[in-house]
Amino acid sequence: MVTRFASTRIVLKQGDITREKVDAIVNAANSHMRGGGGVDGAIHRAGGPAILEDCKRVVPDGTSLAPGKVVMTTAGQLPARVVIHTVGPVWAGGSQGEDETLALCYINCLHLAASAGLKTLAFPAISTGVYGYPFDLACSLALHVIREFCRVHPAVIEEVRLIYFNQADHQAAKTHLSALNSE
Ligand code: ADP
Repeated sequence: MVTRFASTRIVLKQGDITREKVDAIVNAANSHMRGGGGVDGAIHRAGGPAILEDCKRVVPDGTSLAPGKVVMTTAGQLPARVVIHTVGPVWAGGSQGEDETLALCYINCLHLAASAGLKTLAFPAISTGVYGYPFDLACSLALHVIREFCRVHPAVIEEVRLIYFNQADHQAAKTHLSALNSE
């Protein structure tokens, strides 16, 4: 499914984010930034050891990346040019500021990409795996935040791809986007 938020092309697709040929793919990392499961593990496996080496440089041993924050590393052998790592919130019922933190993940990724001159960006569904954020809430929030960024900063990012690993999530996301477009 393809639409536009202001002048930015929005593409929803099912797939493996490691295969996306874009300026930056986003990683749903964890605070210690030394790899993990889910999309994080897939990115490190497909990109090779250069990503971990760079993670150690940007988040040295003994430090951590707080939820909502972002850092950029090499993409190693991936088709993308760089990886933007962000740490999503762990779902704890919804009253612990999870929505604000998840919104920050998307906003900070978009701002970092914009300031680095990156024009095409692919996101996974941050926090909706091991971190337990209910998919529909996370998906709707992500779409709203991205739309607002594109409205306020037109012509900065050319394309945002939202990559869903499984078909059910992709279908649900298309429903959310249709609802948003008819608001
Ligand atoms: P988190 O810890 O932020 O919840 P996960 O990696 O567990 O991160 O899951 C985030 C989302 O990424 C989930 O929707 C999961 O299905 C999806 N995912 C897992 N592997 C991939 C992949 N290779 N490409 C795109 N999305 C993926």
